[in-house]
Amino acid sequence: MKTRTIAILGATGSIGTQALDIVRRYPGQFRADCLTAHSASEKLFALVREFRPAVAALAVEPAEIPEDLRFCQWFFGPDSTVRALIASKCQDALCAIVGIAGLDAVWHALDVCERVLLANKEALVTGGDLVMKKAAEGGIPMLPVDSEHSAIFQCLQARQGNPVKRLLLTCSGGALRDWKREAIYNATVRDVLAHPTWNMGGKITVDCASMVNKGLEIIEAHHLFNMPAEKIDVVVHPQSVIHSMVEFEDGAVLAQLGMPDMRGPIGYAMGYPNRLPYDARPLDFAALGHLDFAAPDLDRFPCLGMAIEALKAGGSAPVILNGANEVAVSAFLREQIPFGRISQIIDAALQSVPVSPIASIADVYAADAAAREAAQQTIRRL
Ligand code: NDP
Ligand code: MG
Repeated sequence: MKTRTIAILGATGSIGTQALDIVRRYPGQFRADCLTAHSASEKLFALVREFRPAVAALAVEPAEIPEDLRFCQWFFGPDSTVRALIASKCQDALCAIVGIAGLDAVWHALDVCERVLLANKEALVTGGDLVMKKAAEGGIPMLPVDSEHSAIFQCLQARQGNPVKRLLLTCSGGALRDWKREAIYNATVRDVLAHPTWNMGGKITVDCASMVNKGLEIIEAHHLFNMPAEKIDVVVHPQSVIHSMVEFEDGAVLAQLGMPDMRGPIGYAMGYPNRLPYDARPLDFAALGHLDFAAPDLDRFPCLGMAIEALKAGGSAPVILNGANEVAVSAFLREQIPFGRISQIIDAALQSVPVSPIASIADVYAADAAAREAAQQTIRRL
């Protein structure tokens, strides 16, 4: 099999390092020729030393590049990811930067790569219409990495032209699933980072606890699978064994199952259409005994409802929701605000920033800036 070159954008993160595990396991199939990060220079140096990419980038320039790593072409600065990606000429881009900070990389990957492997859900939440249009016009496959979307993508392989009645996104419920409203309000960073089933980066773990993550995923599914909000439902499933489901017109529901391990969906996107074996723990149904399901509680987790409403409102509403959430989550992680304020900050931004049409990426960034300013103002007023 011919080796594919892959750019790992966000190589030092949770998704990036797990993708590199797969590259490590299949050196003949993949060559990670472009590795990028924000500021974790020591981590990136270790990866460059091991994988020997042609190109690497750090958004924050380090004091020095170690002498043994000067074989590689380095890029620095805020646009270093995109410049590195373009210089690398990689066939595939794994977009695994967190937040709207990754939108630019997705946008340019659609110009220069054969396939985009998408983990960075915020790129679709904010720029979804524009990104999907560009992907369709360029004939560039967008292969989902998010586990729910990978599950749906896999179930849809059996569609054979039939219409889809409903997408069912499963949801672990996050670290605070069974907590009472008052306790949720005062949950600490430590409480929130203790995710029951997945081990992920900080921002998405907080998003899971507030359940805004599931809202972002509804918006992501809307764009990836061209489904209206009304046809996307959420079911809380604490074991995270069913990764998501598709219901067809005859009532048949197809599900994709597996132990919770992101190397499954990452590997599926990397190897697509081939399935790459890895040391996955096999599903043991007898040991599991039962799988549980419940409806999401929008009273205790209001961010989910806000995301659904933002999708229905359209235009810049999802951008506003996302921008305010990014500001609120980072304030929470710095222990500047209680957990319960996150939903209030998002709500205040959605109330105060007018929704406008999105016709260009510049419109996305303008709405994001307005949302961030509104969120900062709310935090200052607290
Ligand atoms: P992490 O925080 O673990 O990693 C983020 C990566 O992006 C790091 O390499 C980081 O570099 C880099 N990065 C952050 N900000 C910038 C920036 N401004 N410019 C350039 N690079 C930047 O995140 P995750 O891996 O958890 O998540 C990545 C994306 O994948 C998110 O959109 C998330 O929602 C999605 N996702 C993640 C899942 C998971 O299991 N983790 C599951 C499903 C989806 P540095 O280390 O230097 O800060
Ligand atoms: Mg997910």
